[in-house]
Amino acid sequence: MRTLEAGDPVMEAIAITGDKVSFVGEQDEALAAFPDAEIVDIDGGVVIPGITDSHTHFKRASGVLSLHIDFDAVEPRNIGDVTDAIADRVAIDPPGKWVQGDSLEPTRLAEKRFPTRQELDAVSTANPVVLRSVGRHVVAANSLALEAAGIDAATPDPVGGRIEHDEAGEPTGVLHEEAKLRLDANRADTVVPPDSTKDRFAALSRSVELLNRHGIVAIHEMPRDPDQISDWLLLHEQERPRVRVRFYVRGLAAQTSVYDLLRTGLRSGFGNEFLKLGGVKFSIDGSGTFGNAMVYEPYPGQPDNVGLQRVETDEFIEAVRLSHESGLQIAVHAFGQRAVDMALDAFQAIAVPRSDLAARRHRIEHAYLPPRPGQLERIHDLGLVLSTQPSFIEAVGDAWRRVFADDELNGVMPVATAMELGIPIQFNSDFPCSKLNPFVGIKAAVVRETSTGHVLDQSQAIDVEAALRFMTHAPAHTAFEESWRGHLRPGYAADLVVVDRDPLLTPPDELDQIDVVRTVVGGESVFVA
Ligand SMILES: [Zn+2]
Repeated sequence: MRTLEAGDPVMEAIAITGDKVSFVGEQDEALAAFPDAEIVDIDGGVVIPGITDSHTHFKRASGVLSLHIDFDAVEPRNIGDVTDAIADRVAIDPPGKWVQGDSLEPTRLAEKRFPTRQELDAVSTANPVVLRSVGRHVVAANSLALEAAGIDAATPDPVGGRIEHDEAGEPTGVLHEEAKLRLDANRADTVVPPDSTKDRFAALSRSVELLNRHGIVAIHEMPRDPDQISDWLLLHEQERPRVRVRFYVRGLAAQTSVYDLLRTGLRSGFGNEFLKLGGVKFSIDGSGTFGNAMVYEPYPGQPDNVGLQRVETDEFIEAVRLSHESGLQIAVHAFGQRAVDMALDAFQAIAVPRSDLAARRHRIEHAYLPPRPGQLERIHDLGLVLSTQPSFIEAVGDAWRRVFADDELNGVMPVATAMELGIPIQFNSDFPCSKLNPFVGIKAAVVRETSTGHVLDQSQAIDVEAALRFMTHAPAHTAFEESWRGHLRPGYAADLVVVDRDPLLTPPDELDQIDVVRTVVGGESVFVA
């Protein structure tokens, strides 16, 4: 058993009484102390603390997994494959029913672009089509969908968004960030019909097993509309809880406004051991993969593009101030260096002592583009948590290499430097933006290989033990739970995973092949292979 505590003690036995760990130590002692216990021999397996995935869009993804076309599963190689998948759906759906697709990644298509309106029209003249990118930063729509949303050649780019046009000045159907307008399913005035409550609930219930199968006992969920919270509440009411969920509710440019949240009086920590309010999340830029992350130097080949700012600076600072003063923990999505600076400037602008900021454990999400000089030092000085995704190296590292020049990627995912500076770090998947399997992320943190085997800045590699702590101990601390969960200690919640081999003795190249054989949440086995 690997508790991952300092000094890396290897233990033989763990005892669980009710929902808590009651003993950790030698086997003889355990047998003497608990003579009547039911004994589970894990037979060559290794126990580690349960995994917390500290940034997911799991509820949203569970809809993707069964209700919409999931391009992550379809794995289209070109635009023809994308339109084939739509044609298949159109063949079974009645006319007028919206066809929705998720996790479309144009850099994985031979054409390296989204399909155009005309290409989508060719397979769907009676069904509006809206296809969303990985992370939902960009949508591609057919003519019916554009018409429904009232987007035409005369529609101007909104602040923080970009409508692509063809040579004739007509929209191509590709809409970036805020330009998704009423095709953004999360907007209150969206024209994209919601999935039925019954369908959504069934999809979520089925997909929770996926979490447990990967050893995940808790998630920090990032909902963007009220349904993404209410469905979890319903699930925990109707079924035995199999995962702990902490909500970081989107506070600006979403249906769940921070001002409404503040008025409710709900604060970080409200809830119970299974469902809890973590805090509020603000997203200030787009994704690097599509050239929408806020950067300082224009993207190579795009002299006018330095990324998209999705919220107004003054409004953002005010939201940070109010949230902090009211006792809400803040998570800020900032991909590009200019977005990271905007986040750091905001925390600085609210002018509270570092100790006050650090006490609240506010988080910067992503921040993996190579930091500008002094940027990591500022993250440290402001007492912020770096919440990032080494698994992106595997998932989109090759796409970054097409967007950025090689020297612009030196120091990408700067985990080793952040550790040296003493910045609190946690790792997560941002699922469905990268794979849920935590061992894919752990391998990426250690070997730093893209999916085609290109190594991105080996000097930022860290060891397996540290990577595991960033997915077990660290997220419990970020969520103010370090006194009762996240560790294998007597008195702590019995959240643990049995894996088929010792991660610390596994060759780095094989880390992603580690299999979970049992997952225990609150003393109950929720998954047994
Ligand atoms: Zn995210």
